[in-house]
Amino acid sequence: MAEKRDYYDILGVNKGASKDELKKSYRKVALKYHPDRNPDDKGAEAKFKEAAEAYEVLSDDQKRARYDQYGHAGVNNQGGGQYGGFGNMEDIFSQFSDIFGGGFGNRGGGRQQQTRGQRGSNLRIKVSLTLEEINEGTTKKIKVKKYVGCKTCGGSGAKDKNAVKTCHTCNGSGYVRRVQQTFLGQMQTTAACPTCHGSGEVITSKCSSCKGEGRVYGEEMINLEIPAGVSEGMQLSMNGKGNAGMNGGGAGDLLINIKEKEHKHFTRDGNNILYELDVNFADAALGTSLEVPTLTGKVKITLPQGTPSGKIFRLRGKGLPSIQSYGKGDQLIHVNIWVPTSINAEERKALEIIRKGKNFQPNDVDKRERKGLFDKMRDFFGG
Ligand SMILES: [Zn+2]
Ligand SMILES: [Zn+2]
Repeated sequence: MAEKRDYYDILGVNKGASKDELKKSYRKVALKYHPDRNPDDKGAEAKFKEAAEAYEVLSDDQKRARYDQYGHAGVNNQGGGQYGGFGNMEDIFSQFSDIFGGGFGNRGGGRQQQTRGQRGSNLRIKVSLTLEEINEGTTKKIKVKKYVGCKTCGGSGAKDKNAVKTCHTCNGSGYVRRVQQTFLGQMQTTAACPTCHGSGEVITSKCSSCKGEGRVYGEEMINLEIPAGVSEGMQLSMNGKGNAGMNGGGAGDLLINIKEKEHKHFTRDGNNILYELDVNFADAALGTSLEVPTLTGKVKITLPQGTPSGKIFRLRGKGLPSIQSYGKGDQLIHVNIWVPTSINAEERKALEIIRKGKNFQPNDVDKRERKGLFDKMRDFFGG
């Protein structure tokens, strides 16, 4: 056996290459030696496999560390074929489907579900959440109406096993070769077989439940895992939970649009929660302790003596978590002096006394302080 080449040389990168560089370089080499571009070229096939092996090792942190320390001896102790774990081409296509997914067709062969039939479409749903649910993260069980795989035929669309025959257009390979004229000259490309859509098989007698489509309109109970900290308009997606494909083709994705329910106490400002606290002017003037709601239950706060209208208190960490980082926002409590609209004789008497009270006459000091508060309020409420 010829001596094996250095993995970094094969991919044309230096030892310190980042994962991104590795991926890019591998993609370049793989596309150069791709069997679709080099049909029936054994030399290219060997280079293609060699690159896959190199990438398989270097893209895995543990294997890469062993390779860096011990060379090929450190990663090739599993025995097996000449090219590490890759006995055949299909393994390469399926393992690195993220790299071969675009542009070049998946050539996985008849057994792989995702290469067969026609992919199902994506499905969009809206989910309305309370701020409490957004705060904690939540799981929602929802019933989604959509195309699901046909249970009668297992998604094949065939009446029974005998109704599945090898496709004559492509002789069962699932793809057809085309010669295309490009600015580089003639190029051979492959495309999914138009007769069997890549499955390599045709159905001579259709399943009666799904009329040969391999899917039926139905519903599925889906568990939505909503992470904490989502916000209005955000979109989450669940792979393979959209509409089932035709004739065993892969399912589309489920796209979940987040809506925020209006809250009876709070409004949201980014990760902060705003709360309007109404207090009567006796409490504001004398000071008191009272309970305010938060997203996680009531907390007691102390209103100091002489709390002016418009004052903002901050409950640290009582806001919402961030979806990208640690830490939580705050709850901001905005004090609003509440004025009664009807009073009785006794209250009127007390108020008449207060009205004449020396300390109840507004003065300029008050005004200056209030001006500062207006500025603060503008900051908090983005006015
Ligand atoms: Zn069926
Ligand atoms: Zn075919």
